[in-house]
Amino acid sequence: MDKENEYNNDTVYEYKILPDIIPGRCDRCGQAKFKSSVKNGLFLRECRNCGLKKSI
Ligand SMILES: [Zn+2]
Repeated sequence: MDKENEYNNDTVYEYKILPDIIPGRCDRCGQAKFKSSVKNGLFLRECRNCGLKKSI
């Protein structure tokens, strides 16, 4: 299966379950540009390039 298809943008992945493959970089596209927000007390990190979301 192609790596890109393992992730989707509707899901917020949890860092403790799915740590970064390369710390500080997006698992899917490898970019290090994120926009951050806090939602329900969770720190949410969204990739600016592909939209992959992780709670940290
Ligand atoms: Zn990305």
